[in-house]
Amino acid sequence: MASFNLLLLPGDGIGPEVMAEVERVVAWLKQNGICDVETETDLVGGCAYDDHGEAVSDATIEKALKADAVMLGAVGGPKWDGVAFDKRPEAGLLRLRKDLNLFANLRPAICYPALADASSLKRDIVEGLDIMIVRELTGGVYFGEPKAITELGNGQKRAVDTQVYDTFEIERIAHVAFDLARKRRNLVHSAEKRNVMVSGVLWNEVVNEVHAADYSDVELQHILADACAMQLVRAPKQFDVILTDNLFGDMLSDQAAMLTGSLGMLPSASLGPEDADGKRRAMYEPVHGSAPDIAGNGLANPIATIASFAMALRYSFDQADAADRLEAAIAGVLDADLRTADIMQEGKSQVSTAAMGEAIVAEMQKSES
Ligand code: NAD
Repeated sequence: MASFNLLLLPGDGIGPEVMAEVERVVAWLKQNGICDVETETDLVGGCAYDDHGEAVSDATIEKALKADAVMLGAVGGPKWDGVAFDKRPEAGLLRLRKDLNLFANLRPAICYPALADASSLKRDIVEGLDIMIVRELTGGVYFGEPKAITELGNGQKRAVDTQVYDTFEIERIAHVAFDLARKRRNLVHSAEKRNVMVSGVLWNEVVNEVHAADYSDVELQHILADACAMQLVRAPKQFDVILTDNLFGDMLSDQAAMLTGSLGMLPSASLGPEDADGKRRAMYEPVHGSAPDIAGNGLANPIATIASFAMALRYSFDQADAADRLEAAIAGVLDADLRTADIMQEGKSQVSTAAMGEAIVAEMQKSES
């Protein structure tokens, strides 16, 4: 049985509740001889700050660097609102992303047929939707220098952010997008603003070069980022993989996510560069936060975190069959009308966080027997 090492960082609020359901799936996979995921649990976020005064310790970073993959729950909450900026819970998350060099953020937007009515768009526009947004995560305008507000001396101030991309940053994220497309429907839309930004001109040029050199079997289309936003609400099913930079990816991935209904359903993966053995550092986490308003009440939807673990099975552990089965089990419990509070609809059965986890495992068991 293949064996992997997974570092669990449940974090704050509902983080530990939803992570417990991943542990339930991990235990089932081992019991059934599918794969052996050895887990270790550590602190990140507010709970880490309470424990030792930092949102993530050097020792935890060391463990994350050594693990085959990291799973994060969520961090933060009002309890830590007064904490110094560099020690706030989110600083732990940012340090993990930075130290693991997680430059590629993958956010699928999948609309389960059973939940199509929960979308703000009409059922026929979103039913069966399956998009993957590939967002560059460590470059662009969020990190570019100079980045400052200066006094102009005439009562005015000037704020400057710098959008900056080097060729290698565009090349490596383009490779991630094209590789993914090959495993999906073989179509990449590259979204930038080459009409008004020189970084968009370079983005376009480099994506074309990577495509011509290595991926002529994949269909590539270029789209202006604003047109992409428009098309995402007009006809989202035309997209397979959307490749875009940090800023546009931030917007487009949130927009795509909302096509599918609740925050409690949305997984994500962040990947680093390939090492000599072809392995990547990776962190998997739900898109939602720590939801302090519902923490501790068994109300949290664990599906986003369980689906993030399915991504770990697929992208870090190369267990595509197990990932397929887990994703099918999620669809199965939704078809069986089980709902956590956030996705509850009339005529369906409301279940707790743990009951949803149990039902997903029971659904996997059905396919085993
Ligand atoms: P949030 O995502 O925690 O919650 C937004 C709303 O969605 C809340 O009403 C919440 O109850 C609901 N919700 C979220 N996840 C859910 C789930 N799995 N099941 C059911 N309902 C769910 O966002 P927020 O309220 O803006 O932030 C709360 C805290 O989380 C803040 O401290 C924020 O900084 C932090 N945060 C952390 C992350 C992260 O760890 N990656 C991301 C976003 C926000």
